[in-house]
Amino acid sequence: MRKKRRLRKGRIAVLIAVIAVIILGVVVFVRAGRTKYETVNKGLGEYVVKANEGILSKETGRELKKALYVPRKIDKTKKLIAFTFDDGPKPGNTERVVKALDKYNYRATFYMLGQNAAAYPDTVKTVQKSGNEVSGHSYDHPLLTKIGAAGVANQYKKMNDALVKACGVKAANFRPPYGGINDDVKKSINGPLILWSVDTLDWKTRSTQATVDSILKHAKDGDIVLMHDIHAPTVAAVEQVLPKLKAKGYEVCTVSELLEAKGIKAKQGDIVISANQIR
Ligand SMILES: [Zn+2]
Repeated sequence: MRKKRRLRKGRIAVLIAVIAVIILGVVVFVRAGRTKYETVNKGLGEYVVKANEGILSKETGRELKKALYVPRKIDKTKKLIAFTFDDGPKPGNTERVVKALDKYNYRATFYMLGQNAAAYPDTVKTVQKSGNEVSGHSYDHPLLTKIGAAGVANQYKKMNDALVKACGVKAANFRPPYGGINDDVKKSINGPLILWSVDTLDWKTRSTQATVDSILKHAKDGDIVLMHDIHAPTVAAVEQVLPKLKAKGYEVCTVSELLEAKGIKAKQGDIVISANQIR
């Protein structure tokens, strides 16, 4: 009797071990498959587009690039913070921000000025190709509430033309300079107006420590953090704060990723302050 029971126990143990090995095998296989697919797919996409430069029509090249890009998947159960960088791009600084984000597989939104995109197209391309969000912040930073509907429309068009010329895509979304919004702005900008819920005041303090502290003190799930990649102390602050946010279980994402993950469909004229506050 005792021997039989021991035998049964032994069989159960073997069965559990076999099941565990099978599950482990499946997980490893699926994960390996996915990693390989993404790496190969992205590499191949870049290769195909590069190899066909001058042969493919511009439009086809653009479509191909878009089709072959594998977007990352956001873990919706994590606390999400959207990082945003205004007034760039600025060669050197912007690439450093992209590199720092990539280290943790994080992404952010870059509210670029059309005039800077025209001056530094390679930096715009780096932002776009790395899966970060190319967004718009007017052509040359006027207060939009003072220039009339036609003036706003002109700023918006010139900005988008510069972005398309630099990287093939228009602004994913728009942030008005100084947060200036009136009916002309709402009418002339095709999409929601993205503001912020955490103002780091990095442009004022120009202090790495103050910017890091501001983020760690104020940022919570659903926030949109305002920074400027044109200032070097801000870039250093990003490099320092990302591992700390990672340790706290945050996912740093783009504005579009934040809104999508939170199930928010913002439309033209909506003012988005954070995922928790829309006017
Ligand atoms: Zn600005």
